[in-house]
Amino acid sequence: MQINPLKLSEEIRGIVCKTIDDIELRKYFRFRGGRWYGGVATADCVGCCLKCVFCWGHLTRDNPREHGKFYTPLQVFSQITKIAEKRGYNKTRVSGGEPTISRDHLLQLLELVDQTNYMFILETNGILIGADKTYAQQLSKYDNLYVRVSIKGCTPEEFSKLTGASPEDFSLQLKSLENLLDAGVACHSAVMLSFSTKESMVKLLEELREIDKGLPNQVEEEYVILYPHVKKLLRRNNIWPFKAIEP
Ligand code: SF4
Repeated sequence: MQINPLKLSEEIRGIVCKTIDDIELRKYFRFRGGRWYGGVATADCVGCCLKCVFCWGHLTRDNPREHGKFYTPLQVFSQITKIAEKRGYNKTRVSGGEPTISRDHLLQLLELVDQTNYMFILETNGILIGADKTYAQQLSKYDNLYVRVSIKGCTPEEFSKLTGASPEDFSLQLKSLENLLDAGVACHSAVMLSFSTKESMVKLLEELREIDKGLPNQVEEEYVILYPHVKKLLRRNNIWPFKAIEP
């Protein structure tokens, strides 16, 4: 059965978020440094609104009740800035799951990061930003924010096969870019190409060009990393990449 990412987002939100004294707390399972973007302090959150067949975080994603601990935005901010300071990074991010599920929590975290010289890279599947343009408008308030929308596959059919969502929801990923650009938020798209054909890639580039002629030139190619647990997951789902990266 196909998932409804907007409905799933609400369900997961009920598990991985809670509000105490008007502050939204979110579940995280790890804080770490990372080599991406030339060095980035990372908070790994629990929970997502898609079910990608290649997701390295699928264990926490599929068992959100069992994993992670609740943190306030200030606690997350303290953890990632401590790591960034210690390692000499100038970038921070939330990864591991979908950061946009906890909207108030994310916005409060961005508020805090905006008072520093650190950049915050919002890695998102774009579903919730595509479904509600006021989300992009709220994000436009932050100077230190950069958004990377990770598109899953190149066509509605590929998207559905990879994420478990219905093909129609693919348009939400593209719409998020439109909403972000309309709101003046700096962003680009990364595209998971491991399972795509050349023809479908050409199709996607045309669609991106229709949104903004600069978008196709900024596409970041993404390929699945074949960690042992990801290999197992792909075999279980009976799908194998045309192209992948060995860890
Ligand atoms: S969008 Fe990202 S976190 Fe969510 S299931 Fe897909 S790969 Fe995992």
